[in-house]
Amino acid sequence: MSDIALITGDALIGGVAVKGHGSAVYGFNPATQQQLEPAFHAVDLTQIDQACRLADAAFDQFRALGDEQRAVFLETIAEQIMALGETLVERVMAESGLPRMRIEGERGRTVGQLKLFANLLREGSWHDVRVDPALPERTPPRPELRMRMIPLGPVAVFAASNFPLAFSVAGGDTASALAAGCPVVLKAHSAHPGTSELVGRAIVKAAQLCGLPAGVFALLTGSGNGIGQELVRHPAIKAVGFTGSRSGGTALMAVAAARPVPIPVYAEMSSINPVFLLPQALAARAEDIAQGFAGSLVLGVGQFCTNPGLVIAIDGPDLERFTNTAAKALAGGAACAMLSSGIAGSYQRGIQQLQQHDAVSTLALAPQEQGKGAPALFRTTAAAFLSQHALSDEVFGPASLVVACRDLTELHQVAESLEGQLTATLQMDEADLAAAQALLPLLERKAGRILANGYPTGVEVCSAMVHGGPFPSTSDGRSTSVGTGAISRFLRPVCYQNLAQALLPEVLRDSGVAGDASLAGAQRWHRREGVLTR
Ligand code: NAP
Repeated sequence: MSDIALITGDALIGGVAVKGHGSAVYGFNPATQQQLEPAFHAVDLTQIDQACRLADAAFDQFRALGDEQRAVFLETIAEQIMALGETLVERVMAESGLPRMRIEGERGRTVGQLKLFANLLREGSWHDVRVDPALPERTPPRPELRMRMIPLGPVAVFAASNFPLAFSVAGGDTASALAAGCPVVLKAHSAHPGTSELVGRAIVKAAQLCGLPAGVFALLTGSGNGIGQELVRHPAIKAVGFTGSRSGGTALMAVAAARPVPIPVYAEMSSINPVFLLPQALAARAEDIAQGFAGSLVLGVGQFCTNPGLVIAIDGPDLERFTNTAAKALAGGAACAMLSSGIAGSYQRGIQQLQQHDAVSTLALAPQEQGKGAPALFRTTAAAFLSQHALSDEVFGPASLVVACRDLTELHQVAESLEGQLTATLQMDEADLAAAQALLPLLERKAGRILANGYPTGVEVCSAMVHGGPFPSTSDGRSTSVGTGAISRFLRPVCYQNLAQALLPEVLRDSGVAGDASLAGAQRWHRREGVLTR
């Protein structure tokens, strides 16, 4: 067994296990309702300060590593996670109530993400090298200008509750920050402290094996808003990655903005992921679409940020066929353990509010149980939805609201009223093309990913993926938290004007990337510029 497959209830600061000085929290098995040992004590201000200072001290050495060395570090983390074997799988299952297959799949995704960023580093495009050669004959003369991206500095990452591996300690935020060359100080989620310690130990071990400074990664334990807020306030922290509630995300945005030196917060918060059933598709395939929709809604007990929480369609017999089939599929669904009692509690409150709402009818409500989530489907009119903002609030779990519109004009009004979303889905046939074309510019303004004839759950980790969107789906819609594009959140450009080759960073020298492929790209760019300015 791996020598790091240990759960001792410790934080990891400076490459060593330390006990938090504050109050204790325990893991909790939502499936058996049992407390899990050991106790994890909350880190105090001194320990947060120590982790941030060490991250700051490690920054220059870590960012100076070559791409290959950082790639090897990411791959070593992946190896160490796999080496945790059954100890990790069993602990994640115990702390999340999620089944083995999901956990093993999520572990594969986590390891795959780390390897994807390792490949990105080796491929080199992340440097975004640009070169404008000097134009001494021009009036006025132009100096030589070369640009590359550099990392921002230490990043505070908040582990998500709904992906205990892929969006947590070694998840997408951590992988992209480390790939960028940013040390990470991680706030473990209080719902899976044991999982966090195991994965944290894997990162610490990888850092040791790669000879990296101890401050490159720290894991902070404990519960309470004070820990996260103090972390975001720390002057050494230069950016924040967060996945969780809207209230948590906006609280951290406020803390970051109130600092003497404000920093960017990349918070993924709340999205209801509208699914538009366009008329011809609904007429041709109402029952099929309903079955696919129901499957997507209950996946992972609805605890995905891309869960389809809203369906928008034109009222009539075709929509009735859809709702009848979906309601039948959902009403028989079982109540399943949710990730935490907090999430189960807010799900129960959310569906109760919809049930009791005057303008909402209940189409399906599977038998609910305390601490669990069972599927639910509701229906309202476009007029009610447009006049009552609360109907567009996220209900995190396997519940969805169908909005029946009079016609396409009203459907557009509903779409226009939506807040920013991670995804927007079109169920459409060829005869819906004109309706889809008319909707598309609006959807581009509202969502980070637009998909046709699929379901929003299932986020591919790849180069073209955008897992982001306008507020409140995220705090900054210009980025993605999944896929290689996520690295750009933790980078900023630096321009070097007239610097001697010896002073330039290696990647910008004539002997580096700037000297070959990218220079060719830059020259092409100059030709374009020439055309534009003529
Ligand atoms: P959360 O309550 O926002 O917690 C996320 C992390 O932020 C935790 O580490 C938490 O600390 C910390 N935190 C929360 N509020 C804070 C504040 N005001 N100041 C400083 N730190 C704060 O989210 P959650 O526990 O994962 O889930 C709760 C709800 O969030 C769900 O019911 C759901 O509505 C939503 N959610 C949405 C998504 C999505 O992608 N759309 C994903 C997950 C959850 P502690 O560990 O000490 O609690």
